[in-house]
Amino acid sequence: MAVKDFNPFEMAQNQFDRVADLLNLDEGTRALLREPLREYQFLIPVKMDDGTTKIFKGFRVQHNDARGPHKGGIRFHPHETIDTVRALAMWMTWKCAVVDIPLGGGKGGVICDPHNLSLNEQEQIARGWVRQLAKNIGPLIDVPAPDVMTNAQHMLWMLDEYEKIHGGKFPGFITGKPVGSGGSLGRTEATGYGVIFTLREALKSHNVDITKTTASVQGFGNVAQYSIRKYTELGGKVVACSSWDQEDQTSYTFKKESGVNADELMSITDKFGGINKTKAKELGYEVLPGTDWIKQNVDILIPAALENQINADTVKFISDKVKFVVEGANGPTTPDADKVFMEKGIFVVPDFLANAGGVTCSYFEQVQGNMNFFWTKEDVLTKLDEKMTSAFHAVLELARKKKLYMRDAAYIISVSRVAQASKERGWV
Ligand code: NAD
Repeated sequence: MAVKDFNPFEMAQNQFDRVADLLNLDEGTRALLREPLREYQFLIPVKMDDGTTKIFKGFRVQHNDARGPHKGGIRFHPHETIDTVRALAMWMTWKCAVVDIPLGGGKGGVICDPHNLSLNEQEQIARGWVRQLAKNIGPLIDVPAPDVMTNAQHMLWMLDEYEKIHGGKFPGFITGKPVGSGGSLGRTEATGYGVIFTLREALKSHNVDITKTTASVQGFGNVAQYSIRKYTELGGKVVACSSWDQEDQTSYTFKKESGVNADELMSITDKFGGINKTKAKELGYEVLPGTDWIKQNVDILIPAALENQINADTVKFISDKVKFVVEGANGPTTPDADKVFMEKGIFVVPDFLANAGGVTCSYFEQVQGNMNFFWTKEDVLTKLDEKMTSAFHAVLELARKKKLYMRDAAYIISVSRVAQASKERGWV
């Protein structure tokens, strides 16, 4: 699949079709699961700070709720498309199922670039998104969360708007809220730490000592930052990471042979995960082209930025030393690149397993909110580790037993669980 032809929803459907064949799914179940149950597309008019009115396009896609209310983030991104949201909603269904939490799949977005919007304009977009969907989302229907370029503040504006409309307090409407306003401790770290919990188990299961490994990471946002922190804490060395440069409208790779220091880089990173290249040079980092993260002579690659980054065009740059790919981002690897991984024997922890820590912690946020009793950070992260570790081993065990590629094994577990719930409800 070449970069120009990339359609994430087609890719998600291709991945699903492959597993539907392996599982010999009946036609009805196949037709139900390869499309979203419901989709909403709408306009959000916003009075801009300069007095003009601008119209933003919003989306919510609800893929499947046989196992529980839809769950999934909201992205603010200039290149958001309905097909990206469809793909992400479908991957959320599989993600919740693989870690066995009682939630379905959903995803939302708005075509906008928060880099160029004031806080007031962003607040209006967040509130406008909720107003358009107020009857079709809610604690027992569909529970949103943050994603790329949205954060706890956006979630609180959305919660406030939802509560105004429905007249009451509904903390279970949204997750990723600020700590102290119904949020869970550990949510900020959850996805990145979860990525590394699965990597730790992958290395153990191959008898590889993590302290003797090196990695290269794409991205330096929430997922990448906490992946790098945890991996470094466990003794690994990250030699490069990359980020998007808003001013130059391109990406750069930041390399330090002695090891990237997440705290040091975070002190020169903007709130969108963009690293300041002048300051990075002063701190002794080499600043290389954005694509160089994939060319590094390391044991592990962690794509943690966007979808479609390891594809037919880029997979050829991967060094022969690379033996593990742990997908922090959603959909970073296309089926063409998967074929190369299979041929080269690269072990993959697929996205919807590797990055499930975020939604698992969101689920913990719901549980704590329902009990109105909040856990310590240590409690949250210990429970997260248990959930991620057991999900990883269930997938590994199936992959080893049936000689399956890890992505296929993870899909088989998820799709079977969702198909069974749909059957038990009498839908198919
Ligand atoms: P973020 O907005 O915090 O960070 C994104 C990072 O990617 C930034 O550092 C940005 O500079 C970088 N980036 C963007 N385009 C790039 C490019 N072309 N080359 C290199 N770097 C680039 O986002 P995030 O929350 O860290 O999410 C990253 C990925 O992980 C997304 O695919 C998201 O859907 C997925 N994910 C996130 C969570 C979560 O809890 N945050 C959970 C599950 C999955």
